Amino acid sequence: MSEKANHTTILKVAIPSVPFFELFDYLCLDEMLIQTLQPGVRLKVPFGRQTKVAFFIEISDQSAYPLEKIKPIINVIDHNSLLSAVDLALLRWVSQYYHAPIGDVINAAFPVALRQGKPANVTKLPLNKQYATQLAPLQCNQTQQAAIDSISQAFHQFSVFLLDGVTGSGKTEVYMQLIEKVLQNDQQILVLVPEITLTPQLQKRFEQRFNQRIAISHSKLSDNQRKNAWLLMQNQSCQILLGTRSAVFTPMPTIGLIILDEEHDSSFKQQEGIHFSARDVAVMRGKLADIPVVLGSATPSFESLYNVQQRRYQHLKLPFRAGVASSVSVELIDICQQRLNEGLSTELIAQIHTTLAKNEQVLLFINRRGFAPTLMCHYCAWVACCHACDANLVIHQHKRLLRCHHCGSEQDLVVRCPRCSSNELVRLGLGTERIESVLAQLFVGKTIVRLDRDSIQRKGALEHYLLQILSGDAHIILGTQLLAKGHHFPNVTVVAILDVDSGLFSTDFHAHEKLAQLIIQVSGRAGRADKAGKVLLQTRQPNHQLLTELLTDGYETFAKSALKEREIAGMPPYSYQALMRAQADNESFPCSFLETVAEYAQSINEHSVKILGPISAPMAKRAGSYRYQLLFQHHNRRVLQQLLTDMIAQVSHLKLAAKVRWSLDVDPIDLY
Ligand code: ADP
Ligand code: ZN
Ligand code: ZN
Repeated sequence: MSEKANHTTILKVAIPSVPFFELFDYLCLDEMLIQTLQPGVRLKVPFGRQTKVAFFIEISDQSAYPLEKIKPIINVIDHNSLLSAVDLALLRWVSQYYHAPIGDVINAAFPVALRQGKPANVTKLPLNKQYATQLAPLQCNQTQQAAIDSISQAFHQFSVFLLDGVTGSGKTEVYMQLIEKVLQNDQQILVLVPEITLTPQLQKRFEQRFNQRIAISHSKLSDNQRKNAWLLMQNQSCQILLGTRSAVFTPMPTIGLIILDEEHDSSFKQQEGIHFSARDVAVMRGKLADIPVVLGSATPSFESLYNVQQRRYQHLKLPFRAGVASSVSVELIDICQQRLNEGLSTELIAQIHTTLAKNEQVLLFINRRGFAPTLMCHYCAWVACCHACDANLVIHQHKRLLRCHHCGSEQDLVVRCPRCSSNELVRLGLGTERIESVLAQLFVGKTIVRLDRDSIQRKGALEHYLLQILSGDAHIILGTQLLAKGHHFPNVTVVAILDVDSGLFSTDFHAHEKLAQLIIQVSGRAGRADKAGKVLLQTRQPNHQLLTELLTDGYETFAKSALKEREIAGMPPYSYQALMRAQADNESFPCSFLETVAEYAQSINEHSVKILGPISAPMAKRAGSYRYQLLFQHHNRRVLQQLLTDMIAQVSHLKLAAKVRWSLDVDPIDLY
C-alpha cells in the first residue's frame, strides 16, 4: 500500500479544456515559492504527455492520490495573480451557476494570448486619437437628471437600475455623465454593448467626451489587441472599458460602475461553450464588488421588468425623446388578399415614392438574408436541401450559390432540377437580395444600400455603407436585424417591417417578446431629427392582440399583460429552466444518453422538478449531427440548481457521455 499524500502541501489546480470538473493535484518542490502563490496565478504543468497552462486555486494537505503519483508543476508564470479575490469569486459563481468546469471559466476570462502562457506585458500601443473638438456634457432634462441623481446616490454600494428610456431619450448622455462622476472618484467603468462593430459611433462619442484612451474588447480584434485592452484595465492604465459580452470578466481592480446597454439583446447570452448571460453575470459582479449596475433599454427584457416588480431592480424611466427629435406614428398595412410585388404592397411602394420625393430616406427591414429561402422544382416538387441538416438551402443570387444557413455548406446554384432535369425551378420566399433587386426596378436611379451579414463581410464595408447613409447618398436602406441596433440615421423618416407575421406565429414562448422588441427598436430608427417619423408594418393580421396592444398602449402595457400570461402558464421568469442538449453523428446515442440522464435525475428528484423529454431538437439534424434535448423546469431557482449540481456530478461518468457532445444551458433564451 502506498501512502496517501497527507500532510504534504498539495496545489489544487484548475486545468482548462479537459473533460473533468475536478481540480487537479500537483506538488511544488520549492517550499518558499508556495508561500508566495496567490490564487489565480498561471502555472505550467505536465498533463499526460503535454504541457498545459493552468490556474492555481488553493493549497490543501489532502489528496486522494498516492504521493508518488502526484507530479510537480513545471513553473509559475505570474508573480502576482492577475485576478482579484472578487474576480475569482465571480468566476467561481459562474462555474457553479452555469455548471461549467472552473478551469474553463477562468480560461474564458483570459484573453487568448495569456491563455497560451505568454507574459502579461502590454505590447506596443497605437497613439491616442486626438479630436479637434471636445464634446461638452449637455444640459440634462429633468428625467435624465433624476436618473443621474438616483444612480449616483448609490455609488459605492450594490444596486441595480433599469434605465427604461425610449430610443433617443438620452440614455447615452446619462451614461456619460455617470461615467464622468465615477472618473472623478478615480474608479473604473465597464460598459457592455451587444455588438461594437455595429456601433462605431459610440466609441467615438466616448473618446470625444472623455479625451482619454477607451479600452475596447470584442471578438473581431486581434489576440494582441484583446490582450492589451485586458491588461490596460487590469493594471489600471485605463479607466473605461467598452466591450461585448466576454468583457464582463475583465479584471478591473477599481471598478465603480457597470453599464449594460440594450440589456434585452439576446447577444448578451453566449450560445456555445459556457452558456452565460453577460447581463446576469454583470449583476452578480456588481453584487460582489458592491457597486451599482445600470441596465439600459427602450424595450426591457421580461426578466428585468419582473425584477422591477419584485423590487430587486429600481425602475428609472425616460419617456420622452431628448433634444429636437419629433414623434413617430405607427400604421398597419393590411396585406391580406393584396397583390404584392415581391413582398411589397402597393401602399408601401406609394409611401416610399412620397418619402423619396421629399428627399428623405426610407429604411426597410426583413429578417432574412440571401435571395430566397427555398428552391423548388415546378414539375416534381424537388427541394434543394442541405445534406447535413434538416434545412433548405438558401439561394444566394449574387454569388450564384445555394448555402445552408445552419452549417455553412455551399453548392453551385443549379438551373436544372437534379431529379427530373426540368429547367422550371421556382424561388419561394423573400430575402434581402430579392427585395434589393425589386427595389432597383421600382425606384430607378435611386441608391439602395443593403445591410446584412453577407454585405458587410468585407472589412470596412459597414463603415462605407454607414457613411453613405449619413451623407444622404443612400436613398433606400434595406437590411436585417443588424439595422435594429443603435444606429443614428437622422434623415430616415419612414421605416417599414415587411413581414411581421412570421414572428406572430412561432412555437417558442419568447417569440412575442422578441417581436415586440424588434418592432419598437426598428421604429426607434425613424424620425430622429427635426422631422416626424412614420413606421409601417405589413401584416395579414392587423387585429392581432399583440399588435393592437403594443400600438395603442405601448411596450410597457404590452409587457405587463404578456407577463401575466407567462405567470398563468408558469413560464419564465415565473419559473426557471435549464436545457440539456446532446448530439452525435450516431443517430441513437444522443437520445439514449439523455434517457439515462433523465432516469438518474428522476431518481434523485425530491422536489418534483419537471423533467421534460428527451425529445428530438426542433432541428433534429444539423451539420451531420443528430440532436436531442431534455428540459428541466421549476419555480424555485435553488431547487432546480441543486438537482442540476447533483446530476452533473454523475453525468460526466456515464459511459455514453464520452460518445456524445452534450451541454447544459441554464436560463436558455430559446429552446432551439
Ligand atoms: P439614447 O441613447 O436613449 O438613444 P442619446 O443619448 O443617443 O439617446 O440621445 C439622442 C439624441 O438626443 C442625441 O443626439 C443627443 O445628443 C441628444 N440629447 C440627449 N440628451 C439631450 C439633452 N438633455 N438636451 C439636448 N439634446 C440631448
Ligand atoms: Zn424536378
Ligand atoms: Zn447545413
